[in-house]
Amino acid sequence: MDVRPLRASLNPFPANSNEGIRRIDFPLPLRYARIPSMRRVYFDNNATTPLAPEVFEAMRPYLMEDYGNASSIHWFGQRAKAAIEKAREQVARLINARASEIVFTSGGTESDNAAIVGLVEASRAEHKHAVTTAIEHPAVLETMRALEKRGVAVTYVRVRSNGVVDPADIAAAIRPETVLISVMHANNELGTIQPLEEIGRIARERDIYFHTDAVQSTGKIPIDVEKLGVDLLVISAHKLYGPKGVGALYIRRSTTLRPLMHGGHHERDRRPGTENVAGIVGLGTAAEAARMHLPVESERVAALRDRLESGILASVAGVGVNGDRARRVPNTSNLRFDYIEGEGFVIAMDLRGIACSTGAACSSGSLEPSHVLSAIGLKPEQARASIRFSLGRFNTGADVDAALAILPEVVEQLRSVSPHWRKEAAIVQPSAVSKT
Ligand code: PLP
Repeated sequence: MDVRPLRASLNPFPANSNEGIRRIDFPLPLRYARIPSMRRVYFDNNATTPLAPEVFEAMRPYLMEDYGNASSIHWFGQRAKAAIEKAREQVARLINARASEIVFTSGGTESDNAAIVGLVEASRAEHKHAVTTAIEHPAVLETMRALEKRGVAVTYVRVRSNGVVDPADIAAAIRPETVLISVMHANNELGTIQPLEEIGRIARERDIYFHTDAVQSTGKIPIDVEKLGVDLLVISAHKLYGPKGVGALYIRRSTTLRPLMHGGHHERDRRPGTENVAGIVGLGTAAEAARMHLPVESERVAALRDRLESGILASVAGVGVNGDRARRVPNTSNLRFDYIEGEGFVIAMDLRGIACSTGAACSSGSLEPSHVLSAIGLKPEQARASIRFSLGRFNTGADVDAALAILPEVVEQLRSVSPHWRKEAAIVQPSAVSKT
């Protein structure tokens, strides 16, 4: 079996393992004593992506021999500093920004917090208001809620049933005291792309700062901060084949933020703390690779995603697509399987080697249905029956074939124990229900 080196390192059950059978210490209910080796397929790239080999290679020296502190004036320090500045150029180039407009952080969550809190706190207005949408990531939603507790008014604009916000609704939410509009670029659960250009125009006309969380669009679709008209844009390395725990914040020149943290003069006084040099080099390399691969990769991944989606729709009854099918990033498919319980589906697929998800990784385990799926009008049972497949650079046609070979049987098994499905099947197709 063809197991590429990258896969082999990811795969807890390598096909060429002479153990063949492994024990794995997952918490209950995922703990199962003995699992035969099997092909493993990763369709959860919106949760995180594997590190690309070229990213790992670029990072390695900065974890070993080039270990200097970028603030030191000696040779070691200057090597680290030069590597950071190269990465800054690489990230800037990916989004058509200037290197001086890029600040490195610990990831998407910190960048969102720094942008939103930093902007609102820098405003001297007596009354402050922010506009955002109901489908933002918790890194934005919870930051807004924290600001509400400090007296900032926030409007959470609804989205349409296709998972896309109407720019007219954003415009209607603006008040004289609005200091910030925050709308994500691509939604992490549905993949839907928001109309940032139109919203950017509205923000400019009204002279309001515009922030976007571009964690799920960076590297998947082209980004040009000038075209989008954004003042603040957030990137996370681990969603584009870079390492975890590092991200970037684009801050348009002449935008003033109050820093979240206090400390040294790093990042031109915009973010204190000794720089994560290897992580930043990883992000820069990942950004460069994304820029080079994007045109070809986005088409290739979209073709795989579409084949997976149409294959499922053709082979399984009672499946619907959540979110706009045309206006979405190329790698994401969010499907609703009638009379399926999402967590059960994810576990059953995992037992057969396919990793997918019920939605955002950060809210898995929560009993509440996804706020994104609720916002597009799904009933709680429909939201709980929804599954996100998110493909990536290391997926192949064979992965799609493997999933399509397994999935109908998994759905059938799960539905066979659902009394609601049995009732439905009896109405539609009496012979489909066993009499025993
Ligand atoms: N924003 C979006 C849309 C995300 O999908 C995520 C991660 O899932 C984040 C922000 C948080 O990024 P990080 O994991 O780097 O903190």
